Amino acid sequence: MKQLKKWTLPVILFLIFEMTAVILWLTKDNIFYLMNFSYIGISISLGVFLMGVKYKYARNMVQLLVGLYMLIYLGLICNENMQIEGFWYYLFTGVFEAATIHYAVAKIFGPLIFGRGWCGYACWTAMVLDFLPYKIPRGKRKKIEWIRIVVFILSLVFVSLLFLAKVKNIERMMFWAFIVGNIFYYAAGIALAFVFKDNRAFCKYICPITIFLKPMSYFSLIRITCDKDKCISCDKCKRVCPMDVDVTDNSRKRKNGTECILCMECVKNCPKNAL
Ligand code: SF4
Ligand code: SF4
Ligand code: SF4
Repeated sequence: MKQLKKWTLPVILFLIFEMTAVILWLTKDNIFYLMNFSYIGISISLGVFLMGVKYKYARNMVQLLVGLYMLIYLGLICNENMQIEGFWYYLFTGVFEAATIHYAVAKIFGPLIFGRGWCGYACWTAMVLDFLPYKIPRGKRKKIEWIRIVVFILSLVFVSLLFLAKVKNIERMMFWAFIVGNIFYYAAGIALAFVFKDNRAFCKYICPITIFLKPMSYFSLIRITCDKDKCISCDKCKRVCPMDVDVTDNSRKRKNGTECILCMECVKNCPKNAL
């Protein structure tokens, strides 16, 4: 029975990704989608399976497998801007391709099922940040979350201006925006992690994608809940949470509930298996 449980979630995840891969392959008549989503599905399922068998670096492994693929292969080699500017770009051109599909699956509709799984297992920015020394945040949360709204608006204004000014070769501009944007994200993310002693400070205060991720993950089907009969209120789960989630509160309105990246640190550290 235990063996079956270990396999269940990886198999379900693999099937969801494979279904998406086949649907997009057939509807878009492009085999790239079959390969792309199959690769991501296999990586994530493998990682979740390895987490189930308690392999310590399972999540880092998935982050690297998916994150490097998206950053290096899709971004740098295939010249696809999968950042938020790329999303606006494809949205304005009315094309349901690359970044628009990526956003729809990973960041807008997907979170209704798997919450912010993207942030825990696939994001190429967090893939680096999670290797920094402050896995458990030190100090209180800062009241500067408004910055992510400003960054979100700036990205929209930037792409709108390119279209309004009828800039030639916008596609090339998008490639350079991807390079510059990523350099800025890594620099800001690493600096903030050290300043606030919190690896995930960038995710909490700067990342514009949270404008989509947070409201959608509020309704997430997959979420961590607490068995109150087992819980002894030791609060260890809250102390190890990188996102400051009040994980013992089962309501959807729990403090920082939409920040959960499903990293499972709370589950691993609960002495009573209450999560
Ligand atoms: S909040 Fe942004 S930077 Fe952080 S993991 Fe999610 S998408 Fe990546
Ligand atoms: S670590 Fe477990 S037992 Fe302790 S408060 Fe959290 S859920 Fe309860
Ligand atoms: S420690 Fe638990 S509550 Fe916190 S982000 Fe990870 S899975 Fe979510």
